[in-house]
Amino acid sequence: MKIIDRLSSGKVTVSCELFPPKAGKPLEDAKRIVRETAKLSPSYISVTCGAGGTTNDNTIEIASEVQRACGCTALAHVVCMGSTKEKIAAQLRQLKSHGIENVLALRGDVPLTGDTSRDYEHASDLIEEIARNHDFCIGAACYPEGHPESPSLRNDIDGLKRKIDAGAQFLTTQMFFDNNILYNFMFRLLRAGVNVPVTAGIMPITDARQIERTIKLSNASLPQRFYMIVDRFRDRPASMKQAGIAYATEQIIDLIANGIDNIHIYTMNKPDIAGSIIHNLSEIFDNSVS
Ligand code: FAD
Repeated sequence: MKIIDRLSSGKVTVSCELFPPKAGKPLEDAKRIVRETAKLSPSYISVTCGAGGTTNDNTIEIASEVQRACGCTALAHVVCMGSTKEKIAAQLRQLKSHGIENVLALRGDVPLTGDTSRDYEHASDLIEEIARNHDFCIGAACYPEGHPESPSLRNDIDGLKRKIDAGAQFLTTQMFFDNNILYNFMFRLLRAGVNVPVTAGIMPITDARQIERTIKLSNASLPQRFYMIVDRFRDRPASMKQAGIAYATEQIIDLIANGIDNIHIYTMNKPDIAGSIIHNLSEIFDNSVS
């Protein structure tokens, strides 16, 4: 199943993201997490990938588990930073041989050493190559608050248009905690003539220790309302978890009410948390999820 068909169906979709274990680590626990996540009946499950091919094999293995063992559509992330054309071609062939039809094509972060791949400069190079030589539904990343390397959001949207011109069929957003940021971004995309489906990335923050790392990685700003929740509940893990689930639930209700039909949950490999959110929205999702 090509994900683009679901994303453009006009129905609400809910997808979940998982990350595979590091190379060489056992897969049993990750496979259990896949099974538990698949029981939530998401529209698809995405599987992240380390830069430079560090977790490629496990990405393929876990994406295959999603698809073959659990009967759920898989979206495999493919990262070109630090890779070569040969390695990427081999990876795509392997994905195909596992029946995987959907990829999220990414550049990856520039390593601290600054040592980048010469074969690909941007995700758009990877997307162009996949679109030209392979038959995949291709997604790309977008950043409602701008990518950290971009001098401006306008500049970033120009980069985004290059990815779409190269063959990206849908976009998944970086996490955001203030829906107004997404609405503003959607307006700018519309004005720039970008009209591919956009999946809104929601990260449930259920542990106060997550926050610092999350902001550092995502560059997302946190609204005052969110800070007050963390301030109040940071030392009470069960309360923080409940509040984080409620915050994500409310964010999603507001998004759907405002016509954002495609929701992506960054599950951080916690199916119970994704499950609580999906349960909270059962009437909303049941009536419209494809
Ligand atoms: P690009 O699209 O290449 O963008 C990088 C920068 O270059 C941006 O500032 C952009 O504006 C600019 N730009 C883009 N195209 C051009 C162009 N043609 N010319 C000039 N400038 C350009 N990382 C991982 O390692 N593994 C993952 O599994 C992973 N999954 C992710 C999933 C999502 C939904 C998101 C939002 C991010 C994910 N990342 C992942 C992180 C991502 O790899 C980093 O944010 C990385 O720094 C940028 O990747 P990109 O594909 O957006 O790059």
